[in-house]
Amino acid sequence: MTLEKPQPRRLTILGSTGSIGVNTLDVVNQLGGREAFEIGALTGNGNIELLAEQARTMGAKLAVTADESQYMTLKDALAGSGVDVAAGRSGLEEAASLDADWVMAAIVGTAGLGPTLTAAARGADIALANKECLVSAGQLFVEAVKAGGGRLIPVDSEHSAIFQCLDNSQRPALERIILTASGGPFRTFTREQMAGVTAATARTHPNWSMGLKISIGSASMFNKALEMVEAKHLFEVAPEQIEVVVHPQSIVHSMVGYSDGSVIAQLGAPDMRTAIGYALTYPKRPALNVDRLDFNKLSRLDFEAPDETRFPALRLARTALTRGGLQAAIMNAAEETAFNAFIEERIGFLDMADIVEKVMDRLIDCGAAGTIAEVFTADAEARQVAGEIIAAHEKTA
Ligand code: NAD
Ligand code: MG
Repeated sequence: MTLEKPQPRRLTILGSTGSIGVNTLDVVNQLGGREAFEIGALTGNGNIELLAEQARTMGAKLAVTADESQYMTLKDALAGSGVDVAAGRSGLEEAASLDADWVMAAIVGTAGLGPTLTAAARGADIALANKECLVSAGQLFVEAVKAGGGRLIPVDSEHSAIFQCLDNSQRPALERIILTASGGPFRTFTREQMAGVTAATARTHPNWSMGLKISIGSASMFNKALEMVEAKHLFEVAPEQIEVVVHPQSIVHSMVGYSDGSVIAQLGAPDMRTAIGYALTYPKRPALNVDRLDFNKLSRLDFEAPDETRFPALRLARTALTRGGLQAAIMNAAEETAFNAFIEERIGFLDMADIVEKVMDRLIDCGAAGTIAEVFTADAEARQVAGEIIAAHEKTA
């Protein structure tokens, strides 16, 4: 019997210092580390110490900080290591251009779109955590991956779940996809209670440990709004086929419903490493050291309808999907701008959705997304309009 030796593959992690990035390296190490994989590029932003340590430990070819002012600090930290160093937007492009055959897209926000498109264009398999790529560029992003010849493998837990449950040979019988949402830390709050919350309380997610933006997005349910748009493009379903159900325990990660009434679900402990591992070894399943569900101890699984009055983000996602064109890119850019203003304590928690809605309405005649350049233009315009609305809001507050 010959033991099958895993093929070394070259991996790049865009956003290796973040929550998804760190979990990705954990999975890589569980599956053999640098003996089993070659590490192309690792990228970060402000956390130079962690980036340098990751690059040294993994023997990366290239380490990149998005923050140009940190170039020398990173270079000093990696002196004598044999790791190449770059910085800024051109550095990120260099990282994405390296010949890794699998790229984890785990930069947060629209900052990830350019480098992820570069990796897609040269045919890398894209493990997509950075949902903002799909929300803003939509079908153009899907087409870019297809044109490059690589695969697009979802990492977002809900979309990984659907990817695992969706049998493409049964496509004609596909009726609906059901995204689960934990409901976040304010699931039972009234709007009056939500009005006074701070970023510190909004970021405390009950089940998942994640980066700041997605944690706040879970509290406002803007994360689910982005995921609805993400689902539409990933699975090529109509907006009416996308349902959201609140499931506070985060055990059922999402479901697919068929025309015979069957619903297929994927369950697991709330641990992103399962979805990351699946994206890394797809179509095989890896052996991972993550918690197993103990059904004898699971006392209950609850489900409830989302409340779109308390969480207007879901209604805004439907509006963006119905209006189509560049509206989702506008929603995404406005949300990122409003999120930044919220964590800087310039606006309140509930103001985020108000601002996003105003920006979407103001730019209602934005038209279709014909090219990626038009997506970037709409993104910039939405940020500018959001900035003006935030500034006006501050004057009256
Ligand atoms: P994070 O904030 O923990 O990490 C973000 C990464 O991006 C870091 O490496 C950071 O250095 C880098 N970065 C930040 N700003 C940058 C910029 N301007 N240019 C280049 N790089 C920059 O975020 P995260 O929670 O790991 O999330 C990453 C992405 O994955 C997001 O799109 C998020 O929605 C998605 N996602 C995360 C989780 C999770 O459990 N954390 C789950 C599903 C999807
Ligand atoms: Mg998710």
